[in-house]
Amino acid sequence: MPRPTILFDIGNVIVHFDFARAAEHFIRYSPLSKADVVRALDPLKAPLESGRLAGDEFVRRGMEMIRFTGTPEEFRHGWCDIFSLNAPMARTIASLDQSVPMRLLSNTNDLHIDFLLEQFPVFTRFGGGVYSHVAGCMKPEETIFRIAIRQLDLDAAQTFYIDDLLPNIETARRLGFRTFHYSDARHAEFEAELSAWHGASSQHEAR
Ligand SMILES: [Mg+2]
Repeated sequence: MPRPTILFDIGNVIVHFDFARAAEHFIRYSPLSKADVVRALDPLKAPLESGRLAGDEFVRRGMEMIRFTGTPEEFRHGWCDIFSLNAPMARTIASLDQSVPMRLLSNTNDLHIDFLLEQFPVFTRFGGGVYSHVAGCMKPEETIFRIAIRQLDLDAAQTFYIDDLLPNIETARRLGFRTFHYSDARHAEFEAELSAWHGASSQHEAR
């Protein structure tokens, strides 16, 4: 039976990312400028994140597009090493009652998600998630939220969803999720709303 669950976006919620770091890395192995590297790889992102392009194929095509002179492993590392932990969020997650299930819902790709789960211990607290490249669709489409409801056994009305992008929040709201539109500046407000929600939902559970 569905029960109160916290559903997290990843990028700019649990970790920050900076694609400029990847571009910096790539230009060490490419005749292209930083702007041209970004422009060349940009069209590959949506196919990668919607699962139409597998990680290995992305590496191969990406290397070709920017005339990358390093190894596939160096390309892969550059593509992935763009994340930094959102420390206040990691502390909040660590402080949460172990009885509240936490799940992930992210537009991502196989390279990034493997890297994240391996590099950031904060993710050990999560009991799985729905990822765009596996689902074959992306936020803010309703489809991926419906897949999350089904696969993660969620009741939207009992799920607190956190995302930094308004279009994603709007879809979630339309489907009946309790939502929080996150930014670093709103972290204290986020904690207050989450704990009010948690207090109310655990009382509801006890009844
Ligand atoms: Mg995000």
